[in-house]
Amino acid sequence: MEFVDLKSQYQTLKKDVDQRVLAVLEHGQYINGPEVDDLEAALADFVGVKHCVAVSSGTDALLIAMMALDVGPGDEVITTPFSFISTAETIALLGAKPVFVDIDERTFNINPSLIAPAITSRTKAIMPVSLYGQCAEMDTINSIAAEHKISVIEDAAQSFGATYKGKRSGGLSLIGCTSFFPSKPLGCYGDGGACFTNDIKLAEKMKSISLHGQTDRYHHTTLGVNGRLDTIQAAVLLAKLKRFNVEIENRILCGERYTKFISSSMELVTSPFVEPMNTSVFAQYTIQVDKRDSLRDFMSSKDIPTAVHYPKPLHKQPVFADIVSPRLRLPVAERAALRVLSLPVHGYLAESEQDSVIHALNSFYN
Ligand SMILES: *Cc1c(COP(=O)(O)O)cnc(C)c1O
Repeated sequence: MEFVDLKSQYQTLKKDVDQRVLAVLEHGQYINGPEVDDLEAALADFVGVKHCVAVSSGTDALLIAMMALDVGPGDEVITTPFSFISTAETIALLGAKPVFVDIDERTFNINPSLIAPAITSRTKAIMPVSLYGQCAEMDTINSIAAEHKISVIEDAAQSFGATYKGKRSGGLSLIGCTSFFPSKPLGCYGDGGACFTNDIKLAEKMKSISLHGQTDRYHHTTLGVNGRLDTIQAAVLLAKLKRFNVEIENRILCGERYTKFISSSMELVTSPFVEPMNTSVFAQYTIQVDKRDSLRDFMSSKDIPTAVHYPKPLHKQPVFADIVSPRLRLPVAERAALRVLSLPVHGYLAESEQDSVIHALNSFYN
């Protein structure tokens, strides 16, 4: 069993992927080819926003979004400690300070009630992460931001395709950023990402930053980066986007099956909580247990791959030792880091495989 089965996915999509990739090899516009424009239009339409800027990775999407908002030295960005490193890394790379506030113990997303007390005159933006496939409390976060005239960037790297009150993740705040890393809900065959916004000026600025700050050829108005999405990756994504809804549906069915079993028969396991206003794409299906490491070893002895997202919260990472007080305690995130375990989930996981996961869980506890 694979934790994420990219081979089965390719076999299913092979004809379309091959055709589109070969078309790029034939026309030869490997950088900024027509597939990139087509993809940006298709993604904007999917998310339900006016503009999409396709970029080179989820990390670069966050970086470019913050560069477009002029985040820099002296600024603070409020974010969650319970995420992949990119979220805080990009803030710090720009010379700004990531300000970590604790998470909600049921959803693992940033706890909105802790945001307002963390706002200072230096706060430039809030960057919630829609972790494991479920959106953060975006309306509450947006209204706090509006009150303080600061921006909200949703890190939607794990939640692409998820909905919040019927609207798609990525289109819920001033800017939404996602990743097309191969194992993300919508992945390409290398690195890729995208920024979404309804603001034309920001869209143009993000596009320009992704092209070395260029506005016309060899005319550079701002500092930028080499942040483009390759045409071949755009071609792969155009093919994958066609079947994305089926994959989301399968992920949701798998998640619901796990949850049904766990909540009916396993007292020692906490299944993921999905807010009624949300649909999760289950980028990860993450349970909470006491003896996480022994469960993980046991699952591995039964050939069930699992993963820990994340064993060390960001405020505990050595790289931030200089900017985070050693006394900072974020107890919910710290406890979650000891208790979370992600089970296999993807759009091609057969029911028989799901049953093996459930069976292994069950035999550990009985
Ligand atoms: C994967 C991920 C990123 C980074 O995306 P890349 O495409 O790998 O650069 C950022 N934030 C979160 C929450 C992620 O899971």
